[in-house]
Amino acid sequence: MLIFSVKNLLNQFTGAKEEYPLFETLAEIFPQEKSGIRLKSPLTGHLVLRKLPEHSVGVECYDVEISVLLSCSLCLKEYRERIFIDHFEGEFYLSPPQGREIAEQYFTIDKKKLEIDLSEIIRQTLLLHFPVFPVCSKSCKGLCPHCGKDLNTETCEDAHRLEKKENPFSILKEI
Ligand SMILES: [Zn+2]
Ligand SMILES: [Zn+2]
Repeated sequence: MLIFSVKNLLNQFTGAKEEYPLFETLAEIFPQEKSGIRLKSPLTGHLVLRKLPEHSVGVECYDVEISVLLSCSLCLKEYRERIFIDHFEGEFYLSPPQGREIAEQYFTIDKKKLEIDLSEIIRQTLLLHFPVFPVCSKSCKGLCPHCGKDLNTETCEDAHRLEKKENPFSILKEI
């Protein structure tokens, strides 16, 4: 569960902190059928909750890691991508504080239960860290643009012919 009680923390002095290990299966945040995201590991990391002024709590996450299954943009094969985020943070308020700057990433504390739910901050942060152009490896050769063969595992005559055509000097070699 990504829900943490901040009842004790809110009664403490500013700067007081509580630490927790993060080990969460995110199936609820990223249900596969809805999000299309296939999780390959739980999310792990280290969580620090810190009492801030005026009934607010700072959330700091460190060394956050998760593996997901993605499709390579070049060869279209599925591969396992490890997403690692060294640090992100946000603030949770009972009510937005007066006379103090409001954090960019800000969320609200459940007033009745005095709990915070990290689902949304984690979901948003992970989505920002997904690769825009996923590739299975730096040396992926992709598919032949002509016949669609996977050039990582097969060679293709088309690819050679195409290269020859594009090279204006190749004709000289043939003479
Ligand atoms: Zn690939
Ligand atoms: Zn080909």
